[in-house]
Amino acid sequence: MSFAALPKDSRRAGGIAVIPLSDSIDKVSYQNRPVMIVKENAQKYAIFGIPLSAPLGNLQLETNQNPISISIASYPYAEQHIKLKDQSYVNPDQAQLDRYAQEAKEQNAVYLSFSPAQWASFPNFIVPTKGKFSNSFGRKRFFNGEQRAPHSGLDIPAPVGQAVVAPTGGVVVQTGNYFFNGNTVMIDHGQGLISMFCHLNAIKVSIGQHLNQGDLIGLVGKTGRVTGPHLHWGMSLNDARVDPQLFLNK
Ligand SMILES: [Zn+2]
Repeated sequence: MSFAALPKDSRRAGGIAVIPLSDSIDKVSYQNRPVMIVKENAQKYAIFGIPLSAPLGNLQLETNQNPISISIASYPYAEQHIKLKDQSYVNPDQAQLDRYAQEAKEQNAVYLSFSPAQWASFPNFIVPTKGKFSNSFGRKRFFNGEQRAPHSGLDIPAPVGQAVVAPTGGVVVQTGNYFFNGNTVMIDHGQGLISMFCHLNAIKVSIGQHLNQGDLIGLVGKTGRVTGPHLHWGMSLNDARVDPQLFLNK
């Protein structure tokens, strides 16, 4: 049996649970939202994104049969202290907060979507841009000393203008210039699997465009809340932001 195509199983907040299912299970959900099901070598699996906010201990998934219980382990996410010159990125004013609320609404609608997959077995992933990266997902962040949301993606430092490509096939479902995220592209890969690419210098795709793995989606930049040029690569499964490195398990 080969597990090569599936994401890596890592049962922690911000991780992924790859759960073998009996053949009679054809529906899995978490908090009333559908969870991805795939079949590899005649074995069914639920591919469940564990929210960054998930508490330690047991968490329950509903199915069309008995519920499934999985155990969430602790994980030593590091702290990161970031200095920003532009204080409005630390304490936005009311107009900026209003703008952010509207943008968050747009992005959350994408994260909650669950479209049929265009693939038969779980797709292979490549890194979307070249660059040396460290383990930046899940970091507890402090901006100018004030704690803010944990880092929900993987940062790949790269020069402005470098190509960013689709890590796997999908459909462009959102593009925009966002307050924190800068120029952003969101791609739907099917069954609740969504990728996000932020701080772009330029966007090279439009909404509705179908992409194959390796297709150009934009150029690395430093738009939005950044300290320098890099690609922020986010992955979301069943509306949970998960560690993109778990898809690079080849
Ligand atoms: Zn980032």
